Amino acid sequence: MSTVLVVNSGSSSFKYQLIDMDTEQMLATGLVERIGEASGRSVHTIPWDAVPSVERSNAPQTTERILPIPDHTAGFRVMLEAFETHGPSLSRHPLGAVGHRVVHGGKRFFEATVVTNLVKINIEELAELAPLHNPANLQGIEAAQRAFPDVPHVAVFDTAFHQTLPPAAYSYAIDAKLAAKHRLRKYGFHGTSHKFVSEEAAKFLYRPLGELNQIVLHLGNGASVSAIEGGRSVETSMGLTPLEGLVMGTRSGDLDPAVLIHLHRRAGMSFDDLDTLLNRKSGILGMAGVGDMRDLQERSDAGDEVAAAAFDVYTHRIKGYIGNYMAQLGRVDVISFTAGVGENSPEVRAAALSGLEAFGIRLSDERNEERSRDPRRISTDDSEVDVLVVPTNEELEIARQTLAVL
Ligand code: AMP
Repeated sequence: MSTVLVVNSGSSSFKYQLIDMDTEQMLATGLVERIGEASGRSVHTIPWDAVPSVERSNAPQTTERILPIPDHTAGFRVMLEAFETHGPSLSRHPLGAVGHRVVHGGKRFFEATVVTNLVKINIEELAELAPLHNPANLQGIEAAQRAFPDVPHVAVFDTAFHQTLPPAAYSYAIDAKLAAKHRLRKYGFHGTSHKFVSEEAAKFLYRPLGELNQIVLHLGNGASVSAIEGGRSVETSMGLTPLEGLVMGTRSGDLDPAVLIHLHRRAGMSFDDLDTLLNRKSGILGMAGVGDMRDLQERSDAGDEVAAAAFDVYTHRIKGYIGNYMAQLGRVDVISFTAGVGENSPEVRAAALSGLEAFGIRLSDERNEERSRDPRRISTDDSEVDVLVVPTNEELEIARQTLAVL
């Protein structure tokens, strides 16, 4: 099999990437959005190094179209036209499989799975746990199956990597019958990223995955941290939904559940209001009015005390989780930072690790400031714990897992 198409579908958009699995090189990437609206948009990009040199002079890298796209099936037709018009041609790079990102696999899916009718029924049924995501993921799968009826489709679940959590880590301390009836437990998310980064970290260190205890900090717009023992996730910060845990761009992360009861009783907020408050209007946006870490840091650097205080809450929470997971693991060999903030903010990394020297964590200021798109070490040579920056690549991980199940 030479190429895998990776699809990440939302309710009114989908992103795709075509990956050559011999070289693991991305051949094309794109986005189809505003599906179902009066005018839709598609963007198709071919990376420069994937364009044969003889074609480079007249090969546009990015092409955009504005046109009505009534549904996902039409969206896939627009994508196919982009491949035919701008390349790479899918007849010259025949698709081996399509890999789909699916957010919630419940406790049923602990690894990537070939899509069958039964798997689709299960994904639909799990919409109860991820009402915004699973139905949209399923729409993408069905439209892609219409576009590519003859190739296998594989579902890769965000929750699957965390299915190795022990009961002590995944159970909520509430009425056991109620928890069982409503399937209330910690599932964890960003699994493809945590898996990818922990494997890349082991490769970078030339050490077997099986002998490493790792902490992975995925700090993007959404943020989560995991403790990984010998390649198996044993703790993670996101829970039943991606709301629990770290402070995020617009999500609160951990808080006393009584806050909800209090706001309902005292401020008359409905459950929909509370959902919007905690998922969309909290985090650094709620605290400081900006949801983007770059903006927050700029304001803080310019002397804005509210922004500085929000930055402190954000990094204080990360440090707390590092301490927690060091205790759970007993020994930590490597801490990796990844995703938008983790890969690009030396300030967040320095603040989150400050004062942890007694635990064997020593950051090199110089290495921490270096910019690169490659995995790199940012701890000092005498640090007992290796601290790394490892760029994540969820699409490549989905493609690898797709290939692995076939
Ligand atoms: P992601 O969800 O992984 O795309 O990450 C998005 C987050 O990364 C946003 O909050 C961005 O502000 C943040 N980010 C991207 N570049 C930087 C940077 N140079 N410094 C700080 N934050 C950054």
